[in-house]
Amino acid sequence: MSQGLINILSPKPISFSEFKKLKEEFKGKIKDADSGIKALLEDYWDVPYYFSDDQDGGCWSSVRDAAHLYVLLNYLLYGRPGMPFDTTKFYRQFFEDSHDNIKEFIVNIAAQKPAKLERDVQVDLVLGSIYKIKKYFLENNRIKDIRGASTIIKYMNEELTRQFLSQRYIEECALYCGGGNVLMLLPGGQGSEACRQLEECFAKVSLTAKVAFEFISCTINELFNDYSQKMRALHERIEERKKTKVYPINPDSDLEEIVIDGKKIDFTCVERINSRGEVCRLCSVRDAKYIVITPEGRMAACPSCMRKNMVGKDKAIFYEEYQRVIGRSPKWDVASISDLKDSHGHVAVIYADGNNMGNVVMNIRNPLQNMYFSRKVDYTTKRCVYSAIHKVMRDHARFEAIALGGDDVFIIVPGDVSLEIVNEIIEGFDRSFNYELTMSAGICIAKHNTPLQSMFQVAQAKLKSAKALARESGVKYGTVDVEVIESNISVDLSTSRWALFPTDSLKLSKFINVIKRMKDTKGINRSQLYKFRHAARELKPYEFQLFYAYQTARLSQDYSTFVAEIFGVDPRRFSGLIENPNAHKGKPFVSPWEDIVMLWDCVGGGEDSVS
Ligand SMILES: [Zn+2]
Repeated sequence: MSQGLINILSPKPISFSEFKKLKEEFKGKIKDADSGIKALLEDYWDVPYYFSDDQDGGCWSSVRDAAHLYVLLNYLLYGRPGMPFDTTKFYRQFFEDSHDNIKEFIVNIAAQKPAKLERDVQVDLVLGSIYKIKKYFLENNRIKDIRGASTIIKYMNEELTRQFLSQRYIEECALYCGGGNVLMLLPGGQGSEACRQLEECFAKVSLTAKVAFEFISCTINELFNDYSQKMRALHERIEERKKTKVYPINPDSDLEEIVIDGKKIDFTCVERINSRGEVCRLCSVRDAKYIVITPEGRMAACPSCMRKNMVGKDKAIFYEEYQRVIGRSPKWDVASISDLKDSHGHVAVIYADGNNMGNVVMNIRNPLQNMYFSRKVDYTTKRCVYSAIHKVMRDHARFEAIALGGDDVFIIVPGDVSLEIVNEIIEGFDRSFNYELTMSAGICIAKHNTPLQSMFQVAQAKLKSAKALARESGVKYGTVDVEVIESNISVDLSTSRWALFPTDSLKLSKFINVIKRMKDTKGINRSQLYKFRHAARELKPYEFQLFYAYQTARLSQDYSTFVAEIFGVDPRRFSGLIENPNAHKGKPFVSPWEDIVMLWDCVGGGEDSVS
């Protein structure tokens, strides 16, 4: 395994003396802790665990994951489903200096050496996936309902899964849960029933989210020594399950309430409709059964939309997370998309995810690496997104996050800060993974009243072209593509109308830098840039060049200097148009003004910026 991959799949090494100090400190913390050890361990997810001072390898597990796995293996070997199991005792035992064969097993697994438990047992490895999540989110255009949908997914994925496990087994059975996926290790013979119950349980809460669970059986030794092969088999099974699963058209359940993060949401108080045949006003698809109260008045809603609506009323999980990461809350509580518009009425949908993820996942050799990697990706993505928003908007931070988990980013921000935010997110992500992993993003900028579904589709197409650039050009950096929906131009997603996009984040940094200097230059203004763009669209090339020469002689040569810098051409030879490098395929010139106007409007700073 390459050093680059090892750095992604295990925590950064520290000195053994430093480790010993941390370990003593932790032992002090858990001395009097009864059941809170698991929570205390979360702070140690990125600290390596050393079983001895001569432990070799170069690949370690984290303190959290090693302790977690130790408790889980003890449970699988000595516990029984439905019977109480004292996890606290085993957490304490893990941190004692004594050696045992389970610790030895974990040492060998972490160091990627052959490992064998003397006493082996059957286990069931269960994988769960909530899929087509974006479709579930985007059934309607209302931000609070989308937020509710997003909260429900996170609740099922994390809280409900942990509840399920702690009632029947132990919570430590979950190797990871987050970003719509769950991987758990259960005692042998439990897989089939657990999959059925979990699918049922998730369906009862969300009604219309698509969920599949599958499992495979093997022994612990088989699983840990042939992990990638077992995971591949499990993934194949779940893909099969997704293909064959059928869903009811008008699902409903007798669920009376859900408690999310200690807050009870009561569904019994919602007014019911007695008449039949009315269609839900929120999704326009399913039969309405309830009346929900919205800012626009009373609306007929189906059971699924009613739940999203009720949950979204006062739950904004991503603001709480932003506050935890940044240390202060965002300035605005966004109630509708229009709260996010910039001074020109524009908002931007940013849709991004990691490149090369599949390649890393294929190289994962054991559950410890899997546990560490999934947490690291999730943590890094969130930190990069929140930090980017804070860095660009400072005390005026306003955003809406629809999905933010795993390597998945789907957020809405004001249009005029969108390029800078994207650039910060990509730079942060790429740097955190030493460029072994990079992030690509698609951006769609449009008037704030454009349907979110359409904006998402455009952003999705742009993410695809950005990823194609990352794949084909072999650039080291993450990539970006962008589209602006103007009311007078229909969007053709098959070709790019920009000369500069898709591009990579290194180049984007340069564009942003030049545009900011342009904005600080007296004599350059937005309306003049619009004039150039319009003229370049309307006039023949030589006519435009004459017009441009006349205008800049009268106004300022600065236009030429900056535009030439962005396009990397000689400013003395710049005549208002850029020579087309692919001239044999079509026009001899391309207009730089489409890109310049777009960049000007999507990068903050200068007189036009919103405060
Ligand atoms: Zn509905």
